[in-house]
Amino acid sequence: MGLLNNKKILITGISNKYSIAYGIAKSMYREGAKLAFSYQHDKLKLKVKKIALEFNSNIVFPCDVSKDSNIQNLFDSLYKKWKKYDGFVHSIAYSPKNQLSGQDYVNSINRKDFSITHDISSYSFVAMAKISRSMLNSNSSLVTLTYFGSNRVIPNYNIMGLAKASLEANTKYMANSMGKDGIRVNAISSGPIKTLSSSGIKNFKKILHLCKKINPISRLITTEDIGNVAVFLCSDLSSGITGEILNVNGGFNIFGIYDINNK
Ligand code: NAD
Repeated sequence: MGLLNNKKILITGISNKYSIAYGIAKSMYREGAKLAFSYQHDKLKLKVKKIALEFNSNIVFPCDVSKDSNIQNLFDSLYKKWKKYDGFVHSIAYSPKNQLSGQDYVNSINRKDFSITHDISSYSFVAMAKISRSMLNSNSSLVTLTYFGSNRVIPNYNIMGLAKASLEANTKYMANSMGKDGIRVNAISSGPIKTLSSSGIKNFKKILHLCKKINPISRLITTEDIGNVAVFLCSDLSSGITGEILNVNGGFNIFGIYDINNK
Protein backbone atom coordinates (compact mmCIF):
# COMPACT_ATOMS: atom_id res chain seq x y z
CA MET A 1 0.00 0.00 0.00
CA GLY A 2 1.65 3.24 -1.19
CA LEU A 3 1.58 6.40 0.87
CA LEU A 4 0.00 8.31 -2.04
CA ASN A 5 -2.46 5.72 -3.35
CA ASN A 6 -5.41 7.46 -5.05
CA LYS A 7 -3.74 10.90 -4.88
CA LYS A 8 -3.68 12.92 -8.10
CA ILE A 9 -0.74 15.30 -8.19
CA LEU A 10 0.50 17.80 -10.78
CA ILE A 11 4.26 18.08 -11.11
CA THR A 12 5.80 21.26 -12.57
CA GLY A 13 9.44 22.07 -13.29
CA ILE A 14 10.90 19.03 -15.00
CA SER A 15 13.59 19.95 -17.55
CA ASN A 16 15.49 16.68 -17.49
CA LYS A 17 16.31 13.71 -15.24
CA TYR A 18 18.52 15.90 -13.05
CA SER A 19 15.60 18.18 -12.12
CA ILE A 20 14.48 18.02 -8.51
CA ALA A 21 10.92 17.62 -9.83
CA TYR A 22 11.98 14.42 -11.61
CA GLY A 23 13.19 12.96 -8.28
CA ILE A 24 9.89 13.99 -6.72
CA ALA A 25 7.87 12.36 -9.53
CA LYS A 26 9.87 9.16 -9.10
CA SER A 27 9.19 8.96 -5.35
CA MET A 28 5.52 9.88 -5.76
CA TYR A 29 4.96 7.30 -8.50
CA ARG A 30 6.62 4.64 -6.33
CA GLU A 31 4.10 5.50 -3.60
CA GLY A 32 1.10 5.06 -5.89
CA ALA A 33 0.31 8.66 -6.94
CA LYS A 34 -1.30 9.38 -10.29
CA LEU A 35 0.75 12.12 -11.90
CA ALA A 36 0.22 14.94 -14.40
CA PHE A 37 2.98 17.17 -15.70
CA SER A 38 3.49 20.69 -17.00
CA TYR A 39 6.46 22.04 -18.93
CA GLN A 40 7.64 25.58 -19.57
CA HIS A 41 8.04 25.75 -23.34
CA ASP A 42 7.85 23.81 -26.58
CA LYS A 43 11.48 22.71 -26.55
CA LEU A 44 10.70 20.64 -23.43
CA LYS A 45 7.49 19.09 -24.78
CA LEU A 46 8.85 15.80 -26.14
CA LYS A 47 11.31 15.32 -23.31
CA VAL A 48 8.65 15.80 -20.62
CA LYS A 49 6.15 13.61 -22.51
CA LYS A 50 8.75 10.84 -22.58
CA ILE A 51 9.49 11.27 -18.88
CA ALA A 52 5.74 11.21 -18.11
CA LEU A 53 5.47 7.81 -19.82
CA GLU A 54 8.02 6.45 -17.32
CA PHE A 55 5.39 7.27 -14.70
CA ASN A 56 2.55 5.82 -16.71
CA SER A 57 1.11 9.24 -17.48
CA ASN A 58 0.04 10.88 -20.71
CA ILE A 59 -1.29 13.98 -18.95
CA VAL A 60 1.22 16.62 -20.03
CA PHE A 61 0.45 20.29 -20.69
CA PRO A 62 2.44 23.45 -21.44
CA CYS A 63 2.53 26.29 -18.94
CA ASP A 64 4.79 29.31 -18.82
CA VAL A 65 3.91 30.63 -15.37
CA SER A 66 4.79 34.21 -16.32
CA LYS A 67 1.40 34.35 -18.08
CA ASP A 68 -1.93 34.01 -16.25
CA SER A 69 -3.53 32.83 -19.49
CA ASN A 70 -1.07 29.89 -19.59
CA ILE A 71 -1.89 28.96 -16.00
CA GLN A 72 -5.61 29.19 -16.76
CA ASN A 73 -5.18 27.00 -19.88
CA LEU A 74 -3.19 24.47 -17.87
CA PHE A 75 -5.98 24.01 -15.36
CA ASP A 76 -8.73 24.12 -18.00
CA SER A 77 -6.93 21.25 -19.75
CA LEU A 78 -6.31 19.39 -16.51
CA TYR A 79 -9.99 19.74 -15.58
CA LYS A 80 -10.89 17.70 -18.66
CA LYS A 81 -8.80 14.84 -17.21
CA TRP A 82 -9.31 15.34 -13.48
CA LYS A 83 -12.34 17.23 -12.13
CA LYS A 84 -10.65 17.29 -8.74
CA TYR A 85 -7.07 16.74 -7.71
CA ASP A 86 -4.96 16.50 -4.56
CA GLY A 87 -2.19 19.04 -4.99
CA PHE A 88 0.78 20.21 -6.98
CA VAL A 89 4.52 20.48 -6.72
CA HIS A 90 5.86 23.91 -7.66
CA SER A 91 9.48 23.37 -8.66
CA ILE A 92 10.04 26.54 -10.64
CA ALA A 93 12.47 29.43 -10.33
CA TYR A 94 14.15 31.85 -12.69
CA SER A 95 16.45 34.84 -12.54
CA PRO A 96 18.33 36.41 -15.45
CA LYS A 97 21.80 34.86 -15.46
CA ASN A 98 23.57 38.20 -15.04
CA GLN A 99 22.03 38.41 -11.55
CA LEU A 100 23.65 35.16 -10.44
CA SER A 101 27.07 35.84 -11.87
CA GLY A 102 29.04 37.19 -8.98
CA GLN A 103 28.73 40.88 -9.67
CA ASP A 104 28.37 43.15 -6.66
CA TYR A 105 24.74 42.74 -5.48
CA VAL A 106 23.91 46.40 -4.97
CA ASN A 107 25.54 47.52 -8.20
CA SER A 108 23.95 44.86 -10.39
CA ILE A 109 20.37 44.70 -9.08
CA ASN A 110 17.74 46.52 -11.14
CA ARG A 111 13.95 46.93 -11.06
CA LYS A 112 13.24 44.78 -14.12
CA ASP A 113 15.25 41.73 -13.04
CA PHE A 114 13.92 42.06 -9.48
CA SER A 115 10.41 41.95 -10.83
CA ILE A 116 10.96 39.01 -13.23
CA THR A 117 12.71 36.94 -10.55
CA HIS A 118 9.96 37.46 -7.99
CA ASP A 119 7.19 36.95 -10.53
CA ILE A 120 8.44 33.56 -11.75
CA SER A 121 9.95 32.29 -8.51
CA SER A 122 7.37 33.39 -5.94
CA TYR A 123 4.16 34.83 -7.39
CA SER A 124 3.65 31.83 -9.66
CA PHE A 125 3.14 29.56 -6.61
CA VAL A 126 0.10 31.45 -5.33
CA ALA A 127 -1.08 32.14 -8.89
CA MET A 128 -1.36 28.39 -9.51
CA ALA A 129 -3.18 27.91 -6.20
CA LYS A 130 -5.57 30.79 -6.90
CA ILE A 131 -6.54 29.58 -10.36
CA SER A 132 -6.97 25.91 -9.39
CA ARG A 133 -8.44 26.42 -5.90
CA SER A 134 -11.88 25.08 -6.78
CA MET A 135 -10.35 21.88 -8.21
CA LEU A 136 -8.40 21.04 -5.05
CA ASN A 137 -9.87 18.30 -2.84
CA SER A 138 -10.07 18.85 0.88
CA ASN A 139 -6.90 17.14 2.20
CA SER A 140 -4.80 18.47 -0.67
CA SER A 141 -1.18 19.46 -0.27
CA LEU A 142 0.87 22.07 -2.15
CA VAL A 143 4.66 21.91 -2.06
CA THR A 144 7.30 24.33 -3.29
CA LEU A 145 11.10 24.30 -3.33
CA THR A 146 13.21 26.90 -1.59
CA TYR A 147 16.82 27.42 -0.52
CA PHE A 148 18.76 28.59 2.53
CA GLY A 149 19.82 31.72 0.59
CA SER A 150 16.44 33.15 1.64
CA ASN A 151 17.70 33.99 5.10
CA ARG A 152 21.50 33.79 4.89
CA VAL A 153 23.81 35.46 2.39
CA ILE A 154 25.07 32.93 -0.14
CA PRO A 155 27.72 34.12 -2.63
CA ASN A 156 26.17 34.95 -6.04
CA TYR A 157 22.63 33.92 -5.04
CA ASN A 158 21.67 37.60 -4.82
CA ILE A 159 18.11 38.43 -6.04
CA MET A 160 17.15 34.76 -5.93
CA GLY A 161 17.68 34.90 -2.14
CA LEU A 162 15.12 37.68 -1.92
CA ALA A 163 12.70 35.79 -4.15
CA LYS A 164 13.03 32.66 -1.97
CA ALA A 165 12.33 34.80 1.13
CA SER A 166 9.18 35.98 -0.65
CA LEU A 167 8.28 32.41 -1.62
CA GLU A 168 8.62 31.27 2.00
CA ALA A 169 6.38 34.10 3.25
CA ASN A 170 3.98 33.25 0.41
CA THR A 171 3.90 29.63 1.67
CA LYS A 172 2.87 30.77 5.15
CA TYR A 173 0.17 33.19 3.96
CA MET A 174 -1.19 30.58 1.57
CA ALA A 175 -1.25 28.01 4.39
CA ASN A 176 -3.32 30.38 6.51
CA SER A 177 -5.67 31.24 3.66
CA MET A 178 -6.26 27.68 2.45
CA GLY A 179 -6.18 25.78 5.75
CA LYS A 180 -9.92 26.22 6.27
CA ASP A 181 -10.49 24.27 3.04
CA GLY A 182 -8.31 21.42 4.32
CA ILE A 183 -5.46 22.40 1.99
CA ARG A 184 -1.91 22.36 3.39
CA VAL A 185 0.96 24.40 1.94
CA ASN A 186 4.62 23.72 2.69
CA ALA A 187 8.11 24.38 1.32
CA ILE A 188 11.13 22.11 1.20
CA SER A 189 14.41 23.97 1.65
CA SER A 190 16.73 21.74 -0.34
CA GLY A 191 20.48 21.53 0.04
CA PRO A 192 22.40 22.31 -3.17
CA ILE A 193 22.00 19.80 -6.01
CA LYS A 194 23.62 20.04 -9.45
CA THR A 195 20.81 20.81 -11.92
CA LEU A 196 20.33 22.98 -15.01
CA SER A 197 19.20 25.96 -12.91
CA SER A 198 21.81 25.68 -10.18
CA SER A 199 24.59 25.39 -12.77
CA GLY A 200 23.72 28.99 -13.72
CA ILE A 201 24.91 30.23 -10.33
CA LYS A 202 28.53 31.32 -10.52
CA ASN A 203 30.90 29.08 -8.51
CA PHE A 204 28.09 26.64 -7.69
CA LYS A 205 30.65 23.81 -7.73
CA LYS A 206 32.39 25.48 -4.78
CA ILE A 207 29.12 25.47 -2.83
CA LEU A 208 28.69 21.74 -3.53
CA HIS A 209 32.26 21.04 -2.45
CA LEU A 210 31.87 23.01 0.79
CA CYS A 211 28.52 21.43 1.66
CA LYS A 212 29.81 17.93 1.09
CA LYS A 213 32.71 18.67 3.40
CA ILE A 214 30.81 20.22 6.29
CA ASN A 215 27.30 18.71 6.17
CA PRO A 216 26.75 16.63 9.34
CA ILE A 217 25.63 13.71 7.15
CA SER A 218 28.93 13.94 5.19
CA ARG A 219 27.30 13.83 1.78
CA LEU A 220 25.28 15.94 -0.58
CA ILE A 221 21.51 15.82 -0.79
CA THR A 222 19.99 13.92 -3.72
CA THR A 223 16.77 14.44 -5.66
CA GLU A 224 15.61 11.17 -4.08
CA ASP A 225 16.04 12.68 -0.58
CA ILE A 226 13.81 15.56 -1.68
CA GLY A 227 11.35 13.26 -3.43
CA ASN A 228 10.82 11.23 -0.28
CA VAL A 229 10.12 14.33 1.81
CA ALA A 230 7.71 15.60 -0.86
CA VAL A 231 5.88 12.25 -0.58
CA PHE A 232 5.61 12.74 3.18
CA LEU A 233 4.28 16.29 2.74
CA CYS A 234 1.65 15.18 0.22
CA SER A 235 0.64 12.16 2.26
CA ASP A 236 -1.75 11.97 5.20
CA LEU A 237 1.25 11.28 7.47
CA SER A 238 1.92 15.04 7.52
CA SER A 239 -1.72 16.01 8.14
CA GLY A 240 -0.73 18.32 11.02
CA ILE A 241 1.95 20.22 9.12
CA THR A 242 1.29 23.41 7.17
CA GLY A 243 3.08 26.69 6.52
CA GLU A 244 6.35 24.90 7.29
CA ILE A 245 9.74 25.49 5.65
CA LEU A 246 11.33 22.06 6.03
CA ASN A 247 15.12 21.90 5.80
CA VAL A 248 16.32 18.92 3.78
CA ASN A 249 19.97 19.85 3.59
CA GLY A 250 21.84 17.24 5.60
CA GLY A 251 21.96 19.52 8.65
CA PHE A 252 23.79 22.40 6.96
CA ASN A 253 21.51 24.93 8.66
CA ILE A 254 22.50 23.98 12.21
CA PHE A 255 25.88 25.68 12.17
CA GLY A 256 26.67 29.12 13.56
CA ILE A 257 30.27 28.90 12.34
CA TYR A 258 32.24 26.15 10.55
CA ASP A 259 35.66 24.80 11.47
CA ILE A 260 36.53 23.63 7.99
CA ASN A 261 39.99 22.41 9.05
CA ASN A 262 38.49 19.90 11.48
CA LYS A 263 36.34 18.19 8.88
P1 NAD B 1 15.71 22.77 -13.02
O1 NAD B 1 16.39 23.70 -13.95
O2 NAD B 1 15.78 21.34 -13.33
O3 NAD B 1 14.20 23.18 -12.77
C1 NAD B 1 13.75 24.53 -12.81
C2 NAD B 1 12.47 24.50 -13.62
O4 NAD B 1 11.87 25.80 -13.61
C3 NAD B 1 12.72 24.15 -15.09
O5 NAD B 1 12.02 22.96 -15.41
C4 NAD B 1 12.17 25.33 -15.86
O6 NAD B 1 11.54 24.96 -17.07
C5 NAD B 1 11.17 25.88 -14.84
N1 NAD B 1 10.80 27.26 -15.16
C6 NAD B 1 11.59 28.37 -15.17
N2 NAD B 1 10.88 29.44 -15.60
C7 NAD B 1 9.61 28.99 -15.84
C8 NAD B 1 8.43 29.61 -16.34
N3 NAD B 1 8.39 30.90 -16.68
N4 NAD B 1 7.31 28.84 -16.45
C9 NAD B 1 7.32 27.53 -16.13
N5 NAD B 1 8.43 26.87 -15.67
C10 NAD B 1 9.56 27.61 -15.55
O7 NAD B 1 16.40 23.08 -11.58
P2 NAD B 1 16.05 22.57 -10.12
O8 NAD B 1 17.29 22.78 -9.35
O9 NAD B 1 15.40 21.24 -10.15
O10 NAD B 1 15.01 23.66 -9.62
C11 NAD B 1 13.72 23.35 -9.12
C12 NAD B 1 13.41 24.22 -7.91
O11 NAD B 1 14.27 23.82 -6.83
C13 NAD B 1 13.65 25.71 -8.09
O12 NAD B 1 12.65 26.43 -7.41
C14 NAD B 1 14.98 25.91 -7.42
O13 NAD B 1 15.19 27.24 -6.98
C15 NAD B 1 14.80 24.98 -6.24
N6 NAD B 1 16.04 24.63 -5.52
C16 NAD B 1 17.09 24.11 -6.19
C17 NAD B 1 18.26 23.81 -5.49
C18 NAD B 1 19.45 23.24 -6.21
O14 NAD B 1 20.56 23.29 -5.63
N7 NAD B 1 19.31 22.69 -7.41
C19 NAD B 1 18.33 24.03 -4.11
C20 NAD B 1 17.22 24.57 -3.45
C21 NAD B 1 16.06 24.87 -4.17
